Amino acid sequence: MLNNLKPQAPDKILALMEEYRADERDQKVDLGVGVYKTAEGKTPIMRAIHKAEKQVWDQETTKSYAGLAGQPEFHAAMAEMVLGKGYPADRLACLSTVGGTGACRMGFELARMANPDTTIWVSDPTWPNHLSILNFMGQAQKPYRYFDSETRSVDFDAMIEDLKSVKKGDIVLLHGCCHNPTGANLTIEQWGAVADLLEETGAVPMIDLAYQGFGDGLEEDAAGTRLIASRLPEVIIAASCSKNFGIYRERTGCLMVLGSEEMKKTVQGTLGYLNRQTYSFPPYHGQALVTRVLTDPALRADWEAELEDVRTGMLKLRQQLADELRKLSNSDRFDFVAQHRGMFSRLGASPEQVAKMKADDAIYMVGDSRINIAGLNENSVPLLAKALIDAGV
Ligand code: PMP
Repeated sequence: MLNNLKPQAPDKILALMEEYRADERDQKVDLGVGVYKTAEGKTPIMRAIHKAEKQVWDQETTKSYAGLAGQPEFHAAMAEMVLGKGYPADRLACLSTVGGTGACRMGFELARMANPDTTIWVSDPTWPNHLSILNFMGQAQKPYRYFDSETRSVDFDAMIEDLKSVKKGDIVLLHGCCHNPTGANLTIEQWGAVADLLEETGAVPMIDLAYQGFGDGLEEDAAGTRLIASRLPEVIIAASCSKNFGIYRERTGCLMVLGSEEMKKTVQGTLGYLNRQTYSFPPYHGQALVTRVLTDPALRADWEAELEDVRTGMLKLRQQLADELRKLSNSDRFDFVAQHRGMFSRLGASPEQVAKMKADDAIYMVGDSRINIAGLNENSVPLLAKALIDAGV
């Protein structure tokens, strides 16, 4: 039986990580995988998480099963962080999931249950795992244009033109902030125009919010999501706690579904059902940590301060890289690096140029020339800038 299986193509980003590890050159730079790193290349446990973990260790008295849909206090804390104080709790159903990936998957499953004929519209490009999950599910999907590879900014006219073809009951998947892989994001006015289009067409927005706090700030990064949530009758949000709480391996995420008050009970029941059929109870530990950090004022203040340092540190690196490239290229054509937000930027190098930088300079980036800004530090920024110019980007 097992000999019927076909080899799976390895995940490109994970394969790149392996290749980097095996590279024996002293000076090498890993801009591949999407994990935050300090200037020393460490992915630290955030201070508040560490303290919360000690409290949980001291106070937890059982490891028995907890909530099938997750912990209500986690849901409330996440809803407030994402949707703001005064969020419409009477219309909101929540599900704790296995990371943001689990939230995406369960959101797709929910959409398919609600409308088997739905088409899921995804930005071109998008996080590759969106596409591979949808392919695995056999889910109808269509791309909408998003990125202008000349200007390296959002091609909003093309995006709207493509989205004019969405049908009632289709899902439009949007990145809430810090678009992965491009780093190019919608302005608040553009979010408003997307809301207009969704209202006109009856398509349902699904927002993947994996980097809240990594772009312009915790509140600012939720602005597009909040605008959509305030305007549309039905909204699906897949939030990840991996990056902003630094708890990648704890696998913590939250799927939020806004609908009518009348449907809330049914939606909530369906969400619990989805968990039960897939892996039963969601992981508890990360939910406990996030709830403590968000609800304890001292922990929260410390977490917000550390998150702000992470965010501004990445902005500084962006600015340094843009400045360096301005100098070396004698032009402003790389200024987009400082305008992009979040952990990623798509630089616009060809696959051959990406391969050349790996071979000549031991600089590792994803084949589409997406870089993880947090993989840089003050010393490696000039190396990357020089490699880009040498490669003819
Ligand atoms: N969505 C996007 C756009 C992402 O970049 C990621 C992380 N790479 C996720 C969702 C999910 O992350 P996780 O499952 O680790 O929470």
